[in-house]
Amino acid sequence: MKNFEYLEPRSVQEACQLLRQHGEEARIFAGGTSLSIVMKQGFFQPKYLVNIKKIPDLTGIRWDPKRGLTLGALVTHRELETSPLIQETFPILSQIEEDVANIRVRVMGTVGGNLAYAEPLTDLPQILIALEASIRVAGPDGDRTMSLEELFVDYYETSLRPDEILTEVLVPTPPPRTGIEYIRFSSSSVIDKPCLGTAVRFTLEEDLETVRTARVVLGCVAPTPLRARQAEALLEGKRYEVQRVKEAAAFASRECKPVSDLRGSEAYKREMVRVLVTRAAPRAFEKARAFRGQV
Ligand SMILES: Cc1cc2nc3c(=O)[nH]c(=O)nc-3n(C[C@H](O)[C@H](O)[C@H](O)COP(=O)(O)OP(=O)(O)OC[C@H]3O[C@@H](n4cnc5c(N)ncnc54)[C@H](O)[C@@H]3O)c2cc1C
Repeated sequence: MKNFEYLEPRSVQEACQLLRQHGEEARIFAGGTSLSIVMKQGFFQPKYLVNIKKIPDLTGIRWDPKRGLTLGALVTHRELETSPLIQETFPILSQIEEDVANIRVRVMGTVGGNLAYAEPLTDLPQILIALEASIRVAGPDGDRTMSLEELFVDYYETSLRPDEILTEVLVPTPPPRTGIEYIRFSSSSVIDKPCLGTAVRFTLEEDLETVRTARVVLGCVAPTPLRARQAEALLEGKRYEVQRVKEAAAFASRECKPVSDLRGSEAYKREMVRVLVTRAAPRAFEKARAFRGQV
């Protein structure tokens, strides 16, 4: 690893100014679990590392029944996994975190880094998009909010400008009769990055039989997390039926764009998408029927 200068801003504004000042030569450094690997491998040699870990405004997990859940960008995987507040309000997040990477990565790696790195083989984006999360972004000229979906542009590419920082993730309070299921599948070892990650979320009508809204979000099978919109359209506004779920799963399998790699061939991944959507949907449906204010 080549020498670099280590900068430690104490506020978001100061960090944005440093990023603007040093342009392409600077990089945000949060937990360092991803960035340090590419630096050690020599793929990327920033001249300045802007360590944001000492900015108090980027920390903390907050819950408000009206606004929903707010996660500071520096919240770590481990905090999500162990927070009593998360376990009470969004248990799906703490459950999935138990399977993310390994304990060392979970202790250091942050939610902001996980999203802003835009690596395709991750878990959180699928779940958060299915929950209709948005993000807050700060830049030298002010803040903006966008849906999480809009963040992802391509492999390792986001819509953030070089002098912008992802500051918060906002997850709205789920509407009544909502259930979500996430199935993570790893084809090599359980601590490997996922080969596939499939989130299915339903919000039901009062009759507990009709699907008001459906979200089918696929991870690791396209350059960015992918909403299977045809599958969603097939399920929405209709009675939940096993046959329809099978058809939706087949749509999802056609909609995704996997590539063959060490974790599986393109055909294998397409087939697994079909299998996982078929498995996740009934669980999400049952959870929605049993909704007690948490997902
Ligand atoms: C061995 C291993 C296994 C893994 N397995 C999984 C897995 O199973 N599931 C999963 O979801 N993930 C997995 N990951 C990815 C892991 O979640 C990310 O490495 C981690 O969350 C990145 O966070 P970080 O704080 O370490 O980011 P850093 O390494 O510090 O930064 C990563 C990138 O994001 C940028 N960045 C960081 N924070 C911000 C911010 N707030 N605003 C704007 N840009 C920012 C940095 O400039 C850098 O380009 C794995 C990683 C490793 C190394």
